[in-house]
Amino acid sequence: MVALASNQIFHHQMAITLSPDTSGIRVKDHVLVPEHMQDPGAPVQLDFSLHADLTITEVQGAKITLQKSNEASRARPVPLKHYTVTLPPGQKEFTLHFNGKINHPVQGPGQEYARSFSYTPGVISNEGIFLSNSSAWYPQFEDEAMVSFRLDIQVPADWDVVSQGTLVREQKTATTQNVVWEETQPQDDIYIVAGRYKRYTQSAGAANAMVYLRSPDEALAQKYLDTTAQYIAMYNKLLGPYPYTKFALVENFWETGYGMPSFTLLGPKVIRFPFILHSSYPHEILHNYWGNGVFVDYAKGNWAEGLTAYLADHLVNEQRGKGEEYRRDVLQKYADFVNKEKDFPIVQFVSRHSASSEAVGYGKTMLFFHMLRQELGDEDFVRVLRQFYKQFKFKQAALRICSRRSTQPPAKIFPRSLNNGYTALVHRIYCCALQKPNARRKDLSSI
Ligand SMILES: [Zn+2]
Repeated sequence: MVALASNQIFHHQMAITLSPDTSGIRVKDHVLVPEHMQDPGAPVQLDFSLHADLTITEVQGAKITLQKSNEASRARPVPLKHYTVTLPPGQKEFTLHFNGKINHPVQGPGQEYARSFSYTPGVISNEGIFLSNSSAWYPQFEDEAMVSFRLDIQVPADWDVVSQGTLVREQKTATTQNVVWEETQPQDDIYIVAGRYKRYTQSAGAANAMVYLRSPDEALAQKYLDTTAQYIAMYNKLLGPYPYTKFALVENFWETGYGMPSFTLLGPKVIRFPFILHSSYPHEILHNYWGNGVFVDYAKGNWAEGLTAYLADHLVNEQRGKGEEYRRDVLQKYADFVNKEKDFPIVQFVSRHSASSEAVGYGKTMLFFHMLRQELGDEDFVRVLRQFYKQFKFKQAALRICSRRSTQPPAKIFPRSLNNGYTALVHRIYCCALQKPNARRKDLSSI
């Protein structure tokens, strides 16, 4: 595993006004440039893109030019404009003012895959607001995925806003609600989710449990607050300190099952299914460790879904004496949906878009981690995970080939094709951490 992020990242300090009635957004973005990009002796040029329906109205501390070529923009989910910003020698920061509309209606899910959701790359509407970097609602700098931020957001008085990190301040007037969210640790996206929410909060030890519902429901909120505290305590004990100051359940206005850093955005039907509390919900909490705590470098394989499935979905079943049954179901899905043509190495998994890609990216990867645990023994397996989390928290982790051979070939567990990349990870972990290969197996939750 290799750390790719540095602590020298873009910091956005923004004042944002959102107008659901008109799909409008108005932003003043004070950008701090990473140190390694600054130059005391010469002007610095940086390229960025922004949603094409946003207009930059004012620039301070730099010059902006609109690039002529817009060829690359077709591949993105929203139309983009590309800019070059030129900073004078020694300049560390600049300010952009921009405004416009973002309103991409939610599109229905694809037909072939039952678990796919409706989708929008970004919407500001009377029903609700969803913005992420797929909306290009803030400057997307080339080759610099990680950012930190402070967002001072204004919405109508009966609205509330959620983002990653900590709610540091809020102020309500007769006409507006003003909320400040801050995250100083590196993030790979900046989300804004807003709606007419009823908010519930409760302490969950070192973090706050929060619930945002579209209509008041004290009993439902209480279940989520208690369950949040329960799983944060479990993962604190298993893996190390939970990486954020809150975890929020946020009800979306269309059906989704998204896990963002420090919150989850779930659809109105999903959150009311009772079984979600101990299936999808711990999965989303655990994503704060895998995926949203240690970030994935998608170009090198998404290991986070399989590991999250293993330590949430599988572990919860295992605690109830149903681990074997769960693994058999996973194998059954693999047998049902993945034929020779549809199989692929788990290092090539990015995200699920079909039953077969899910069976590989979640199922086969999960079984890989089960195999790894069997080989290492429970104590070493957990120790390796804790070390991995501690070392790569708020950094991207990617896979690296290591030459040492494992004693037990993965083919024994997964005969068809557990391909080389993750086997290399086993070898790598062996190189780094394997000291007691014959440790006895115990229930993971007892460690
Ligand atoms: Zn997941």
